[in-house]
Amino acid sequence: MLSEFDIIRSFFTRSAPATVLGVGDDAALIRPAPGMELAISTDMLVSGRHFFEDVDAYKLGHKSLAVNLSDMAAMGAHPRWATLSLALPESMARKDESWLRAFADGFFALAHAHRVDLIGGDTTNGPLNICVTIIGEAPEGKALRRSGARPGDDIWVSGCLGDAALALAYRKKKIMLESGSVEALEVEVLMDALEMPTPRVDLGQRLIGLAHSAIDISDGLLADLGHILECSRVAAVVRIDQIRRSAVMKKHFSHPLAIEWLLAGGDDYELCFTVPSSERTKVELLSREEGVPLTCIGSIEEGEGLVVLDSSGRTVATEVKGYDHFRA
Ligand code: ADP
Ligand code: MG
Repeated sequence: MLSEFDIIRSFFTRSAPATVLGVGDDAALIRPAPGMELAISTDMLVSGRHFFEDVDAYKLGHKSLAVNLSDMAAMGAHPRWATLSLALPESMARKDESWLRAFADGFFALAHAHRVDLIGGDTTNGPLNICVTIIGEAPEGKALRRSGARPGDDIWVSGCLGDAALALAYRKKKIMLESGSVEALEVEVLMDALEMPTPRVDLGQRLIGLAHSAIDISDGLLADLGHILECSRVAAVVRIDQIRRSAVMKKHFSHPLAIEWLLAGGDDYELCFTVPSSERTKVELLSREEGVPLTCIGSIEEGEGLVVLDSSGRTVATEVKGYDHFRA
């Protein structure tokens, strides 16, 4: 049986080149760069609620950090440090170390890709629960907020929406997908959307000075755009046919739940942001430079509320809401 300290030493102590003092003391020490302010965010992933108990450990390590990186992206912050607090069932700390090894590999692969140092955490015994805190830097006074949207802004979304929700429906076998069979390749694409999300970190930083507001889509477009509208005290019109869909989503779009996946599916980790319509060509250029599809899906208006229009300009009923842990 591994001790708490074996686990910390063997799996979670790695070099932390951008850190004054990392894992091993009572607290870590970090030094932000001059002119920067710190952006801090925490996300907790609970087994059976945020992921399936039997999910691949490498992918879980990746996702634990990815969801936090996505919050940095939404602020336009440059992620630099992370802490990792783990409650582990005994079975995972016992003889077979492969689970911990794979989890750490998934976590560190993404951390290294973004040059994020793991600087501390906590390790305890209990039902599997993973809590990551991320610390990033943004130029003083420049971080992207939810509260800056203004009438005359276009609403933009990165990537495609709804794939993670489609994957979840497929994984829960709650739905039979259209035309019966889902091809192996499709399943892989879908499962990656759900289990290996790509946070839009570079894009977020490049939106500083361009976007008036931003949020990451973790609870579904309607809920998350709704937060921007509420914080900015504005209204919005969204055209549903403008929302980008993946090939898999297009294939299954006749499914009765498809609109819900697209508008209210959680776990997408794309960015939704608003930019004055006069700056449209800058956003298009950014899309080409970053190699990330950016689509204008609507506009910010005076007033309050969110109207969703279909391809013929009719209002779509939007009782569908995003994920809420206390209402789900
Ligand atoms: P304390 O008793 O002061 O809470 P711990 O014994 O819990 O300290 O942790 C020892 C060191 O290991 C600390 O620097 C802590 O931040 C680090 N640590 C503990 N668990 C983890 C983990 N899962 N990942 C990274 N660092 C960890
Ligand atoms: Mg401790």
